[in-house]
Amino acid sequence: MSIAVIEVNRQAIVHNVEYIRKIAPNSQLVATIKANAYSHGIVGVAELLQNKVDYFGVARICEAMLLRQKGINTPIICLEGFFPHDDIVDLVDFNIQSAIHSKWQIDALQSSPLENEITAWFKLDTGMHRLGFNLDEAKTEFYRLASCSVVRKPINIISHFSSADELTSEQTSKQLELFDQFIASIEDKSLIGKCSIAASSGTLAWSQSQREIVRPGISLYGISPFNEPIAELRPAMTFKSELIAVRSHKKGEPVGYSQIWCSQQDTKLGVVAMGYGDGYPRNIPENTPVLVNGRRVPIVGHVSMDMIVVDLGIDSQEKPGDEVIFWGQNLPVEEIAKYTGISPYELITRLTERAKIHYVDR
Ligand SMILES: *Cc1c(COP(=O)(O)O)cnc(C)c1O
Repeated sequence: MSIAVIEVNRQAIVHNVEYIRKIAPNSQLVATIKANAYSHGIVGVAELLQNKVDYFGVARICEAMLLRQKGINTPIICLEGFFPHDDIVDLVDFNIQSAIHSKWQIDALQSSPLENEITAWFKLDTGMHRLGFNLDEAKTEFYRLASCSVVRKPINIISHFSSADELTSEQTSKQLELFDQFIASIEDKSLIGKCSIAASSGTLAWSQSQREIVRPGISLYGISPFNEPIAELRPAMTFKSELIAVRSHKKGEPVGYSQIWCSQQDTKLGVVAMGYGDGYPRNIPENTPVLVNGRRVPIVGHVSMDMIVVDLGIDSQEKPGDEVIFWGQNLPVEEIAKYTGISPYELITRLTERAKIHYVDR
């Protein structure tokens, strides 16, 4: 059965972890597995990597709790921190480390009756301007956090790059400088724990940013954070389905909703069990390719909720049951990103529950 399958090659993920270790030999590794491990299956990927990485990074406490419930004992950092309605007790009960990015979180920790300590990752805003303490308030807030009895010392420090995928941007060096300035400004060095600022693009392109800990996400799965695929990474995901019908089609006849495409010649059309209900994007340009038995053919007409039509050509020998690959080896998701204008990050995370994950080792 291979209808709308997310095939995940575990050995590719292991290879990518080993490659990142080689690129950042002096750094510990947070494997970022938020958003269901970028659709690779959070539990499956955590089970695979639990003894191969130093930490897991997630965005939501519920993701971390799921991992604990599945028996994962690796340290877990909630990179988005706890939320206003989260129960801080869960951090202790499930042994979850948390980013601390706002004054209200320090207030909550200060007034918490907890007896056990929480491991905190002080989040500094060095220029992303999304989450984190502003530089003018950061030092005061860092010391305030350090004075909370429920917060374990030393305190780790994190920040995040806005533009590390732009290799000629000055922003990354600027952010790194502000990061270092902040760390230098803390007089009591015994309060400073591990420092981390690099995700995939920082780790791969800005080696001076690796520091004690790197936090790769997309590259673990073999996908480049830049525009072009990286030869040393192995893509882990093959997103595929199969033909459910092969039909003769007459020249001049349209296909699908709104008749947006008409065949210029007699041809054979393949109907694939795949649609935007599985997470394949609906709005794609004409000629976006798929692989049918390893051969590139174009998608024609609108993508429907459950089906996609491809133009197999008049000489096609394909038959129902034949495999159709939407991205994977020989058709990198980076290339589909170029066709669709949708980043690889979004293409893979938008896959839906109907698409089933199958693990393979090869
Ligand atoms: C998502 C995320 C990462 C991983 O980013 P990639 O670009 O996928 O490597 C690292 N750190 C933080 C804080 C994140 O939110």
